[in-house]
Amino acid sequence: MEKIKMTTPLVEMDGDEMTRIIWKMIKDELLEPFVDLKTEYYDLGLMERDKTKDQITKDAANACRKYGVGVKCATITPNAQRMTEYNLTEMWKSPNGTIRAIMDGTVFRAPILVDFIKPVVKNWKKPITIARHAYGDIYKAVDYRVPEKGQAKISFKGESGEEWESVVYDFECPGVLQGLYNKDSSIESFAHSCFKYAINTKQSLWFSTKDTICKKYDGQFKAIFQQVYEEHYKEEFEKLGLEYFYTLIDDAIARVIRSEGGYIWACKNYDGDVMSDMVSTAFGSLAMMTSVLCSPDGKFEYEAAHGTVTRHYYKYKETGEMTSTNPMATIFAWSGALRKRGEMDGLADLQNFADQLEGACFDTLYSGIMTKDLVGLAEGIDAKAVTTDKFIAEIRKNLEKRLA
Ligand code: NAP
Ligand code: MG
Repeated sequence: MEKIKMTTPLVEMDGDEMTRIIWKMIKDELLEPFVDLKTEYYDLGLMERDKTKDQITKDAANACRKYGVGVKCATITPNAQRMTEYNLTEMWKSPNGTIRAIMDGTVFRAPILVDFIKPVVKNWKKPITIARHAYGDIYKAVDYRVPEKGQAKISFKGESGEEWESVVYDFECPGVLQGLYNKDSSIESFAHSCFKYAINTKQSLWFSTKDTICKKYDGQFKAIFQQVYEEHYKEEFEKLGLEYFYTLIDDAIARVIRSEGGYIWACKNYDGDVMSDMVSTAFGSLAMMTSVLCSPDGKFEYEAAHGTVTRHYYKYKETGEMTSTNPMATIFAWSGALRKRGEMDGLADLQNFADQLEGACFDTLYSGIMTKDLVGLAEGIDAKAVTTDKFIAEIRKNLEKRLA
């Protein structure tokens, strides 16, 4: 069989620990035998980041901007313990944070659904994709412990001389105080990413804030989304039969729980933090959660939502025996990225390969062969736990059948 050709390189970002091992297995078994892989490789493994003083991460992010599509393996975000473990020269920042900042993108998290894992919310039939505005608000707030009775004020001094001041509270006793902010430019980028991703995945977009209470703050989010929608995306949405739906966060939550899924839910920073954990837990498994970073100008980076699965990695290193770590989200990062590359370059064969690869994963799961994490969740199927290498080998067999 002739290998499928690519025309533009895909930005490939390697990573750490168990996911690095799985990364290589996926390439060796599921990609390279079938596709003439054209990638621009960046090693974001922690040692290489340390060696290059994290320049490699910035180079990779810029390559994503240049080529438009990247695929990333999970990476370690160093903490004090990793400093000793890897003898690091500095506690490098989270690569995901760096890439997100350079691409100015929004993260979209969506579960991979299978019939035999029932969501906790029984009416959920289709994925719910959460988009989190990962900028500002409480994550960049100043907060203060008010130690005694006194007056708290908030003020602004403009470049033009414009001044504004307001009393926050006359404290009659000790308490707490917080000042937060966001920027029009960041909210606009968030809105563009959300509308673009909705069009790309042909799903309706919901957006929710608390603008009845935070009239100016959340009101600005609402107004910017409405304006961006009307000026740039309304026509396309209507053509595709998609809906942009704004509602209060309380109402959104009630509707989400009663819905059957199948849409994108855009959330402010804190709402997205909390709701994405709720939604992913209710769908069943972190190992089945995918993550896509989409920039306001339509560049994409695909990855698994989970981390490097450290606990499995140490077990594997100690015993030398392959673990039963679930590679699904990492495989879907590759299929998502290859499909997008195929769409952008007009390569029907590559798009078809992405579909068949995902299909082969489902064939394998529905035949009852899966990793240990899923066996515990599976209902109404004769499920058998296998190690990652055996699971991937079975996917390969099914893929060969599909491509024959
Ligand atoms: P994690 O790697 O997501 O793993 C947490 C636990 O979830 C695992 O111990 C495992 O549970 C289960 N799990 C996650 N993915 C799985 C999979 N594919 N198959 C089976 N089980 C899976 O989170 P962590 O242990 O908190 O973090 C490990 C490292 O990853 C950290 O250094 C962190 O900085 C990094 N991280 C990176 C990213 C990223 O690059 N996007 C995201 C998050 C964390 P059991 O042990 O019970 O089997
Ligand atoms: Mg969270």
